[in-house]
Amino acid sequence: MKLIADTMEPVGLWSHPAVIVANHFVHKSLSNWSLNIAVGCGHGCRFCYVPSSSTNKLAAQLAAYGVQDPDAEWGDYVLLRPWDESKFRASLALAERTPRSQLNADGNRAVMLCTTTDPYQVFRHRNTTRSKELTQQALTLVRRALEMIRDESTLNVRIMTRSPLARQHFDLFKSFGPRLLFGMSLPTLRNDLAKVYEPRAPSPSQRLATLEAAHAAGLNVYVAMAPTYPECDSMDLRSTLQAIKQVDPLTIFHEPINIRADNVQRIAAQGQALGVMLRTEVFATRESWLAYTLEALRAMTEISRDLRINNRLHLWPDKILGSKWAVDSMPQPEKYRAWLERRWERISEWPRSAAA
Ligand code: SF4
Repeated sequence: MKLIADTMEPVGLWSHPAVIVANHFVHKSLSNWSLNIAVGCGHGCRFCYVPSSSTNKLAAQLAAYGVQDPDAEWGDYVLLRPWDESKFRASLALAERTPRSQLNADGNRAVMLCTTTDPYQVFRHRNTTRSKELTQQALTLVRRALEMIRDESTLNVRIMTRSPLARQHFDLFKSFGPRLLFGMSLPTLRNDLAKVYEPRAPSPSQRLATLEAAHAAGLNVYVAMAPTYPECDSMDLRSTLQAIKQVDPLTIFHEPINIRADNVQRIAAQGQALGVMLRTEVFATRESWLAYTLEALRAMTEISRDLRINNRLHLWPDKILGSKWAVDSMPQPEKYRAWLERRWERISEWPRSAAA
């Protein structure tokens, strides 16, 4: 693979190779490590936390690729990390040697692909030949990295994607047995809503079909109904959960959306352009958002009980729900705080024979 970076092109090769690094998830129970194959993400989800928490810090380097504002241009730049087998092997060995006593148990001793991008995505370069080349290069990188994790370590793997391209690796996933969980984000079955919030990601119907194929292939599956949107009413939440139940997921993560003010404006403009009615008033004040998010968590709990899958529902209450103003606004603050703690401390399920 070429190891020099593309310059003044927002889709191309990054300068630093893909390696496994420790991550610092709080209250998520997803993994102990991340393997991120690219800087940027072509899906360009409007609610994505990555530009504000991660790529903004790379603004100076991204400028060399023609990116002026990593936040505003989120979704337009995707820079594939090159493959350097010796560096990857060293990072894998370091993770493998980490004593369990130093790991947060809620990570299940897993490496997650990916946490700041999607491991399976089309690289949309303006030159179609380059586009195909980069997309294939990314698939090759992911395959080689997974083979090495499988053969040279005892680590678990959590795949998280929105793309049916992952089907190309189902054979590889299967070869991990209980050491690998395959998951997709599926907040709604409404394709029109996804066009507003996740404008460049594959549609919910494509994702559901991929999850069904994964289940049929005998993979260990989980689903992230995350984030759900204010427009996801109880009928939509129910039909999405019913569809998810059919793929027999080990865990269903759920989180209502929480977005920054400038992203609300972008979503409102997109909704207007597509003629989709939105409930952006939910984001007007912290109180209105709190009322919305608690109602969404309550509705999901109730519906999952009805569908007899409540034991698989793993709620992700936002950390803001634990702030003083939120706790103080509850009729029974102590009971509420205990409810939050139980959700935050939950360790997500892993297939039994590979449990950490
Ligand atoms: S797929 Fe994930 S990383 Fe990519 S834009 Fe969407 S939320 Fe962000």
